[in-house]
Amino acid sequence: MNTLELIVPCYNEEESLPAFYDTVTPIVKAIKDFSVSFIFVDDGSRDKTANILKDLAKKDDKVKYISFSRNFGKEAAMLAGMRMSTADYVGIIDADLQHSPKLIPEMLKAVTEEDYDIAAARRTDRKGEAKIKSAFSRQFYKVINKISDANIEEGAQDYRIMKRKVVNAILSMPEYNRFSKGIFSWVGYKTKWFEHENQERFAGTSKWSFWNLLTYAIDGIIGFSTAPLKISFFIGGLTSAFGFVYALYTIVKTLCFGSDVKGYPSIICAVFIIGGLILLSLGIIGEYISRIYMEVKNRPNYLISETNILPKDDEE
Ligand code: UDP
Ligand code: MG
Repeated sequence: MNTLELIVPCYNEEESLPAFYDTVTPIVKAIKDFSVSFIFVDDGSRDKTANILKDLAKKDDKVKYISFSRNFGKEAAMLAGMRMSTADYVGIIDADLQHSPKLIPEMLKAVTEEDYDIAAARRTDRKGEAKIKSAFSRQFYKVINKISDANIEEGAQDYRIMKRKVVNAILSMPEYNRFSKGIFSWVGYKTKWFEHENQERFAGTSKWSFWNLLTYAIDGIIGFSTAPLKISFFIGGLTSAFGFVYALYTIVKTLCFGSDVKGYPSIICAVFIIGGLILLSLGIIGEYISRIYMEVKNRPNYLISETNILPKDDEE
């Protein structure tokens, strides 16, 4: 029999989890010739999520769970789930029912019967989302696709089912700063896209604030492109070229017409402009160096405090 494991990252999802389990279970039970199990990853929730997972695991042997020692973020949760997975097919789905589970059978069909390696969901609309948030994320996709070698589909979600080889490819990327949207597209493979409408969250609130999303976008760009380093190089080159021309002009002017002290405002302007550009360039370089620093430290992406999954043989 074929196996499918669904990775479900959960952070403070006590309200959504029972509904999630009750909705998804009948759908996956109905899939023929497939044994479907869950890998719930409790990402350091501060509510009753961990207890709910333990109770589910007691009554259903298809429920596996991993509890982190603290909140490490959804990227780490997905990574832990993939590392612990052993099935032939691996899926990722949110716990808040925003990823409509009724797509699972169709997505599975795409990777089993059709010739696809990945079945992934893409949202068609941004209903129920702040206008400014949509506008920013649209710009983000435009920029990142232009300057990086990963081609990220706009609206692509983490909701997907992958073949084992794709999961292994993703796990072979050792980086600490994991920007999944980039990683998922960087590995390539044949993907079938499933359009789906933006669902309202079942309960609770989104954990993504505007600030979170902004740093997430910066992570994505820094992680998959070195173009920003070139930007600072070009801007720096351009402004210093301008500076030289201006200096030449001033010298000639002084030689021909003598000097005056009227130049004070222009000096202040130049100081601010150049100073700002230097700080900007340093900032961009600093972002890369901080990423290098994190990679070099080689810290684990997460720490597990509790799980009912036995370690794989090759990791013992
Ligand atoms: N999540 C997580 N760790 C976090 C934040 C979120 O595991 O630090 C999970 C969360 O429980 C949910 C999924 O990631 O299952 C998506 O989170 P959310 O609904 O907050 O994001 P949105 O749907 O607004 O993009
Ligand atoms: Mg959500």
